[in-house]
Amino acid sequence: MNDTTPSTTSGFRDRFDREPAGLWFGPGRVNLIGEHTDYNDGFVFPFAINRRAVVALALRDDRMLRVASSFTEEIVEISLDDLSPETVSGWSAYPLGVAWALGQKGADLSAVIGFDIFIDSDVPIGAGLSSSAAIECATAVALDEVWNLGFDKQVLVRVGQLAENEVVGAPTGILDQSASLLGETDSAVFLDCRSFESEVIPLGFDDAGLELLVIDTKVSHAHATGGYASRRASCETGARLMGVSSLRDLTVDGLPRAATTLDDETFRRVRHILTENQRVLDTVRVLREEGPGAIGALLDASHASMRDDFEISVPELDLAVDTARAAGALGARMTGGGFGGSAIALTPHALIPAVQHAVSEAFAAAGFTAPDMFVVRAAAGAARLS
Ligand code: ADP
Ligand code: MG
Repeated sequence: MNDTTPSTTSGFRDRFDREPAGLWFGPGRVNLIGEHTDYNDGFVFPFAINRRAVVALALRDDRMLRVASSFTEEIVEISLDDLSPETVSGWSAYPLGVAWALGQKGADLSAVIGFDIFIDSDVPIGAGLSSSAAIECATAVALDEVWNLGFDKQVLVRVGQLAENEVVGAPTGILDQSASLLGETDSAVFLDCRSFESEVIPLGFDDAGLELLVIDTKVSHAHATGGYASRRASCETGARLMGVSSLRDLTVDGLPRAATTLDDETFRRVRHILTENQRVLDTVRVLREEGPGAIGALLDASHASMRDDFEISVPELDLAVDTARAAGALGARMTGGGFGGSAIALTPHALIPAVQHAVSEAFAAAGFTAPDMFVVRAAAGAARLS
């Protein structure tokens, strides 16, 4: 991944005609299990990956902010005095939104000076690996340092979320930023989205000879807003009809009552959330007690629940999951919000080529766009690079 580093420095030089003061990175993430549970105050279990955004940054001597990225020729400029959710839009809303959100969380933006920032990333956009949180978290750790803010990582999680919610306008939870900021090598972040407590749990994939293969279906999840919002609404309806403030207040023991209280569709949406919360807890327990080779069935059950109960899968994701499993993956599921994006397959190291070959063949036979496939490793969270 260090191959993005020289290009980040030279990209900064090209755009701004001077040297950066430093480089900071923020990783993308894979959610191992726990889907759509975050906004239901539930459990998630993501990890930071070895694909990341790297930002080069230098302070200026005035109040201007200038933002550039390797993915566009555009340079966006705005004064700190004009920064607000209404004045920024498009891709620059991610880094500029973070600058604004730091102010909302207590940084005195009237007392700081502006910056030039250049963004470089190898996190694929819209693949369900959170290229957005990667940028937010890289920017957040960079500004926290150069502006001498001393915020802890829990606060920076909320800064990234605030930027995404208020400036970008995406109603997302804290999953992505928590993984990107709190991740550790070979470990995943077990996160309680109600208490915000988190625990870093070793995955042990290496010792078990396992890899996590990402299968990016190339089906864009960008126009999934309607589906995401309607699933949120179903969960809220389910909680209200069950007489609880959030679905976190129910466990799988509440399923019989839910079955008699709710209409069939709402019941299935609720069943996904309650069983998915249980699967996250089970995954953490099985990892500790038996090791990663034993979590495959939980990944499979998670996919079935998203496909049949929550109905957020697409044929490409189902084919990726079924084919990977048939070719030797121990377990596989779609990851991310659904309606496209990526699947993950927990696969013995020696079987990676066979699984990739089988998935390629199956996609070609079905007439689907060729997927992009790559192994990811659980990596350290956002920090200064050099
Ligand atoms: P994802 O699932 O990848 O997070 P999002 O739609 O949440 O998908 O975020 C993708 C958006 O993030 C892009 O449309 C773009 O605005 C921004 N983005 C991602 N990567 C870059 C980059 N390298 N440079 C600038 N903006 C980027
Ligand atoms: Mg995103």
